[in-house]
Amino acid sequence: MVMFCLGRFKVAITDSDYGSCDIEEMILSPFGADVTLFQCRTEDDVIRCCADADALLNQYAPITRRVIESLQRTKVIVRYGVGVDNIDLKAATEKGIFVANVIYDLTDVADHTVGLILSLVRKIPWADKNVKSGLWDWKSVQPISRLKGKTVGIIGFGRIGRLVAQRLRGFEVKIVVYDPYIPPELFSKFGVEKVDFKTLIRESDIITIHAPLTDETKHMIGEEELKSMKRNAIVINVSRGKIIDERALYKALKEGWISGAGLDVMESEPPEKGNPLLKLSNVIITPHMAWYSRESLYEIRRIAAEEVARVLSGQVPMNLVNKDVLEKIRF
Ligand code: NAD
Repeated sequence: MVMFCLGRFKVAITDSDYGSCDIEEMILSPFGADVTLFQCRTEDDVIRCCADADALLNQYAPITRRVIESLQRTKVIVRYGVGVDNIDLKAATEKGIFVANVIYDLTDVADHTVGLILSLVRKIPWADKNVKSGLWDWKSVQPISRLKGKTVGIIGFGRIGRLVAQRLRGFEVKIVVYDPYIPPELFSKFGVEKVDFKTLIRESDIITIHAPLTDETKHMIGEEELKSMKRNAIVINVSRGKIIDERALYKALKEGWISGAGLDVMESEPPEKGNPLLKLSNVIITPHMAWYSRESLYEIRRIAAEEVARVLSGQVPMNLVNKDVLEKIRF
C-alpha cells in the first residue's frame, strides 16, 4: 500500500472578527493545512505573523507592497468579501501571487441599502426614538416626502447596484445610473437610464454608491458635488468610506446643503470618537454590516477557504481578481 503524506501548509488568517477559524480548519485540514488566526492591524503585524505562510485569508489588515514583498512563499491571498482596496494588486501580480475575492449572495447588501433609504425617507429611527421617549405624535417627524416618483441615482452598476435597482423598481421611482465601464445594453436591460456623473448628482433625490474604492473614486463625492445636489437629497454609502469626503459631508449635513445620509462605511473604521458625524441627527450610521446575515457569514468563510484549498491543490482560484498574474505563473 502506498501512503501519500501531504506536506503541511501554513494558512494564516491575517485578521478576522468572526470569532473563530473552525470553518476554515474544517475545509483546509484535509488539504494538509494548519490554520492560524492572527489579529493583525498594521503592516508590521502582518509582516511579523505571516511572512512564511503559504496562503493568507484577509479581512481588513493592510496588504501593502511592503507586506507583499515580505511574503516568502505565499501563493494566494483571499479577501473575505468583495472589496480588495486594502490589497496592493499590482505588487501581488509582480510577485506572482493570486489575489481572490469572495462573491457571495449580495442580496443582503442590496437589502441593507434599501433599508437605509427607507429609514431616512420614512424617518423610522427618529419616530421610534420619539415614541420610546414618550412622544406619540406623527407630527414629530414632519415633513416626510413620498418616495414614489423620486429619482434614485446609482453610482456603480455592478452586482450590488443592479440588485438595488431590481429591489427599488417596486417603489415606482425613476432610476438613473452612472457607470462608465459597463456595456450600454445593460442599462436598458435593467430598465434604468444612463446619465453622466454631473447629471446624476444634480437630478437625484437619493444617491446610492456601489462603485469600488479606486484612485478614481476616492473622494468622488466632495464639496463641489454636495453643493450641486438638491437640498432635499440624501446620500447612501454602503461601498467604501473613502469614496465620500467626510469633512465635506459633515459641512453639507450641518449647513443643510443636503437633507440626510445613510452610511454603512466610513473613512476610518471604527470612526474616531471625536468624528463630528456621530453627533449629527440627520445621518444614520451602521457598523459596516451590509454584507452580514447568518447565511452570508457562513458562505463567505466557506468560499474563502475553498479558494485557498483550490490553490494549495494546484488550481487557479475561481474568483481571481488579478488576472494578469496568470502570465507570470507556470503550471
Ligand atoms: P462590482 O465590481 O460588481 O461592481 C462595481 C461597479 O462599479 C462596476 O460595474 C464598475 O464598472 C463600477 N465602477 C468602477 N469605477 C467606477 C467609477 N469611477 N464610477 C462609477 N462606477 C464605477 O462590485 P459589487 O459586488 O457590486 O461591489 C461594489 C462595492 O461594494 C465593493 O467594491 C465593496 O467595496 C462594496 N461592498 C460593501 C459591502 C458592505 O458590507 N458594506 C459588502 C459588499 C461590497
